[in-house]
Amino acid sequence: MKTLADIGEFGLIERIRKRIQERGLAGFQSNKDLVGIGDDCAVIPSGDDELELITTDMLLEDSHFRLDWISPEDLGYKSLAVNLSDIAAMGGTPTSVFLSIGLPLDTSLEWVDRFFDGFLGLAQEYGVVLMGGDTTKSLHGVVINVVVRGTVTRDALTLRSAAKPEQLVAVSGRLGESGAGLKWLMEHRPERNVDSPLTNGRLNDNIRHCIHAHYRPELYMKEAQWLARQTGIGAMLDLSDGVLSDARHIAEESNVSIHIEMEKIPVSEPLREVCLEQDWDSEALALAAGEDYGLLFTVDADRAEELVKKFEEEFSSPIHLIGRVSERTSEGLIHLLKNGTPYILSDGQTHGFDHFKTI
Ligand code: ADP
Ligand code: MG
Repeated sequence: MKTLADIGEFGLIERIRKRIQERGLAGFQSNKDLVGIGDDCAVIPSGDDELELITTDMLLEDSHFRLDWISPEDLGYKSLAVNLSDIAAMGGTPTSVFLSIGLPLDTSLEWVDRFFDGFLGLAQEYGVVLMGGDTTKSLHGVVINVVVRGTVTRDALTLRSAAKPEQLVAVSGRLGESGAGLKWLMEHRPERNVDSPLTNGRLNDNIRHCIHAHYRPELYMKEAQWLARQTGIGAMLDLSDGVLSDARHIAEESNVSIHIEMEKIPVSEPLREVCLEQDWDSEALALAAGEDYGLLFTVDADRAEELVKKFEEEFSSPIHLIGRVSERTSEGLIHLLKNGTPYILSDGQTHGFDHFKTI
């Protein structure tokens, strides 16, 4: 019997998408006016030049987080941050949020208050208003579902389907650090104390930095909004599943192939140090670990150099050009290259994070 383990998270989403199309339901062909399944947000026209963005993400105890490793403030922050990141990825501005939570009866009020400190603190920072949600008792751990609405003008909308052959592939943000933080937690299984991972004196600064990247992902909102308004930008998304998987999403939606050059993949100092110390493969973490929440986008080759310069002046942080787009090749959607020759990661990974394949 075939199960979800055979088709994976993205196979399941594709299956749902097909079911909708089979029924002839309108509006699921991506175009600049109406986007259904397949991008970071759904897009709905809301005025002459205005589009509404809607995104939702679910976080489940023991699938996405462990209550004994994450503080309630960080969980509140992260639940909203991952959704705001999807609005950013479309070039948009978030406006309001809905929060549904399922909580076990014995959840302390202190935990609830601290969760909302993290959640509402971030909402306030971005001028996002909590406008509703749902609250239920849960018999099996904490369940969090967040819906964020936002807006974007038609000319600034950046779709996953907008990559074109000959464009370059670019990334902004810090790859693999969040993945390294999670891997450290999984392997070292710190004792139960919600505050221990970040304050425990045994941790060195690099590991602490990676765990922080995992719990409090930095948002690239201003950067994404700025990029979306530059000429020559093609597709854009936020890195939630890792470069390998997320580049594949762009390749699928844009009907192209993407060639990634290993020597151009940025490995940050903390990631390099942690990997040396733990004997981990930094390339694999940078490419295949999820929850980076940086931006992956494509840009016209003749605009790329100037864009990199302007971005650095504007934000004092780099854009890395890590590959290029081509017409769809018969060999596949993603091609990894090292010094021009085909390359396979040391652990043979060809995909990033997939909920039904890596549990
Ligand atoms: P992201 O990582 O950016 O949050 P996802 O990989 O979660 O995006 O989702 C990819 C696309 O699939 C989105 O358009 C999302 O709305 C859609 N999707 C995911 N799960 C479902 C579902 N159960 N039913 C319908 N659409 C879904
Ligand atoms: Mg996304």
